[in-house]
Amino acid sequence: MAGQAAGAPKVFPARDAQYIGGKWRPAAADARIDVVAPATGQVIGRVPAGDARDVDAAVRAARAALPGWAATAPAERAARLAAARDLMAAGRAEIAATVSAELGAPPAFATAVHADLPIRVMGSFATLAAEYAFEEKIGNSRVFQEPVGVVGAITPWNYPLHQIVAKAAPALAVGCTVVLKPAEDTPLVAQWLAAVLDEAGLPAGVFNLVTGLGPVAGQALAEHPEVDLVSFTGSTAVGRRIGAVAGGAVKRVALELGGKSANVILPGADLARAVNVGVANVFANSGQTCSAWTRMLVDAARYEEAVELAAAAAAKYVPGERLGPVVSAKQRERVRGYIRRGVEEGARIVAGGPEAPEGMTAGYYVRPTVFADVRPEMAIAQEEIFGPVVVLIRYEDEEDALRIANGTVYGLAGAVWGADEESAVAFARRMETGQVDINGGRFNPLAPFGGYKQSGVGRELGAHGLAEYLQTKSLQF
Ligand code: NAD
Repeated sequence: MAGQAAGAPKVFPARDAQYIGGKWRPAAADARIDVVAPATGQVIGRVPAGDARDVDAAVRAARAALPGWAATAPAERAARLAAARDLMAAGRAEIAATVSAELGAPPAFATAVHADLPIRVMGSFATLAAEYAFEEKIGNSRVFQEPVGVVGAITPWNYPLHQIVAKAAPALAVGCTVVLKPAEDTPLVAQWLAAVLDEAGLPAGVFNLVTGLGPVAGQALAEHPEVDLVSFTGSTAVGRRIGAVAGGAVKRVALELGGKSANVILPGADLARAVNVGVANVFANSGQTCSAWTRMLVDAARYEEAVELAAAAAAKYVPGERLGPVVSAKQRERVRGYIRRGVEEGARIVAGGPEAPEGMTAGYYVRPTVFADVRPEMAIAQEEIFGPVVVLIRYEDEEDALRIANGTVYGLAGAVWGADEESAVAFARRMETGQVDINGGRFNPLAPFGGYKQSGVGRELGAHGLAEYLQTKSLQF
């Protein structure tokens, strides 16, 4: 890319083409989408704004490739995914540079998370493809797990490569074929992956990519009659519509939606650690993490101490250094709007605020913000902000904490910190949520990930994620 230092890792150059049937080919329409670097506001590339004609061509290619790929031995499918994993690992610096450019993630985070996580996930599905029991015996029956068919994958921009790999890798592992419609804000790393899968030797039509706008290309993909399963990650508003369309057509659907996860700090927990890890959890990726613990629940006796610790922790997230920009001008306005709303609702700002960070004239930066005196019914405690904003809520006793923790429409993730593991686990078992980290438990890329309540339908990652792409057939003898 122009202006890059010699030897710096390359940002994947935008391709003015769709990847369909094993070839890069021109889009049907002339329209383009500008790819904007959130750190500068400058256009760094243009990709096709695909429409229903591109989607139709891609779905037909995926349908044509399905019988051959579904009949391929699992060991061969595993070998293709392992080749993809190796190519991804070799291209780690390019992934990080590309995600850094189009999402704005700071380089260290882009490498450690945006590159390394999808590399691990691709590797995990290469292993699962080879080891999974696609057949079992139940009494006088042989029961087969068969691929669902053509998968339409629609993904968001916040973990752009991870979210694609979390869908495409298990689908390909079991013998499904895929049409991907990535987020319009981050299409470059999606094009990079299409090039990698091509190089890894996937047969033509097994993986297809159509860039385009959600209400145009995304909707055409969700509605296409030749798509057997729609796997969507994004907002609850769009997910609800996709679920309705899929339900109307009696096709399978998997939805990974929003969250407003609770970080519950029980009396007796290590307060400093729980607050510091909790703040880091929210501010990572500029707060644009669906599973972020955006509500911190602290008992009344230690509440003010926690507020001070959180404000001190926030001060370490200097915009432009450890804290990247949010993805777009639109997202920045949304986040600032929520910060203003919190003030109007009577919450107390102890760090950050709605103004632009000092000295940051370019880029979509937001000040890392901590709210105290937040009541559970406030909009900033109920709605997903998707920016670097954490709210601290006071609770009276454990029952009160549980009521608050479970008191939103969401249920994606959470954390519990207790004096001992047993009490934390007992509390976590009563939470209406799909994943809970106990006393700082580490992310596990093989553990099922997905939501209770309006956070979604289905699970991703590991063997549970693989099973989403299977359907069951019984033969009786
Ligand atoms: P979004 O719902 O606007 O977009 C997600 C994807 O859907 C994009 O590819 C977009 O082009 C497409 N899309 C938009 N309208 C569509 C339509 N009418 N039909 C078909 N496709 C359409 O969400 P976003 O703003 O890109 O992402 C942020 C949201 O995603 C947040 O709410 C966040 O919580 C959620 N999210 C959830 C998870 C999870 O795993 N649960 C992960 C990441 C993001």
